[in-house]
Amino acid sequence: MLTFLLVSAFANTAFSNTVLAKDVPFAIAIHGGAGTIQKDHFTPEKEAAYRAKLKESVEAGYTVLEQGGTSLDAVATAINVLENSPFFNAGKGAVYTHDETHEMDASIMDGKNRQAGAVAGVKHIENPINLARLVMDESVHVMLSGAGAESFAHSQGVKLVDNKIFDTDHRYKSLQRAKAKMKKAKQQNKDYQAAHFALDTEYKVGTVGAVALDKFGNVAAGTSTGGMTNKRYGRIGDSPVIGAGTFADNASCAVSATGHGEFFIRYNVAADICARVQYQGKSIDQAGKEVIHDVLMPVGGTGGVIIIDSKGNISLPFNTKGMYRASKSTSQVTYVGIFKDD
Ligand code: ASP
Repeated sequence: MLTFLLVSAFANTAFSNTVLAKDVPFAIAIHGGAGTIQKDHFTPEKEAAYRAKLKESVEAGYTVLEQGGTSLDAVATAINVLENSPFFNAGKGAVYTHDETHEMDASIMDGKNRQAGAVAGVKHIENPINLARLVMDESVHVMLSGAGAESFAHSQGVKLVDNKIFDTDHRYKSLQRAKAKMKKAKQQNKDYQAAHFALDTEYKVGTVGAVALDKFGNVAAGTSTGGMTNKRYGRIGDSPVIGAGTFADNASCAVSATGHGEFFIRYNVAADICARVQYQGKSIDQAGKEVIHDVLMPVGGTGGVIIIDSKGNISLPFNTKGMYRASKSTSQVTYVGIFKDD
């Protein structure tokens, strides 16, 4: 009798989970940046630490969804985990500008109503994605920059932090390497543009982002970054630009990008992927592959995207050696990838 009861209780649980998974899908995907990420650059310990942090981020976001939170909350929660880690180029691990400071960009978009918020060139905000969310929720604007964004933060009770909290040794060394390479190119009489173009991908990419679908059928996307190593003159990348680095619309999909921002802005990458889904009826796999491989690759635009649609499908295309990434959904256990063949 007891056996029967146990079996029947198990069957009921399994059945109700199946029904939930089938009827109310929810899902999340995250990235920690694309780039020249190769297995031989990692010790086993370092690789394990990166994988653990990606897993922690995707599972933190998934838990929010599981508990009935919105896709916006899940996206911000997952991104906070990555911003708070020195491993990724956002928040604590942000790269250095030419002047040896850190300037960060972030944006978030709600697929339910196309509301969006973004900040660009902020220096004293610990979690820029949260400020982007405040811009969306509490201001009448979409994008705020620099000192103005920080004075808005102050008015919202956000603590301003010392720029030095974003200092890390490995990013400082990377800045020095980038400067040395630019100097050498100059000595070889290369002009600034040619020298910059010749710089390895590693100095131009790195970001974090998340896309999610919640139980209410709404998608959202968010992206947060320190931008490009050795950047000058208040350079802003694609990450805070709605349509380029971030886009979300329930009618098509939600996208967060990572890659050489100048290309992602000029090719309007995130919105182009969603437009192909909406107007050409393409799957997110097909649309993502076309833009990342067929559009960006031939012109030298390196990077990748994470995409989710309102059915909970996930696609993670990139044209670089690797991309830090993870996903989890009601129909898929946690996946974590770093290298191409993961
Ligand atoms: N897109 C970012 C930028 O150009 C970098 C990255 O996402 O990898 O600022």
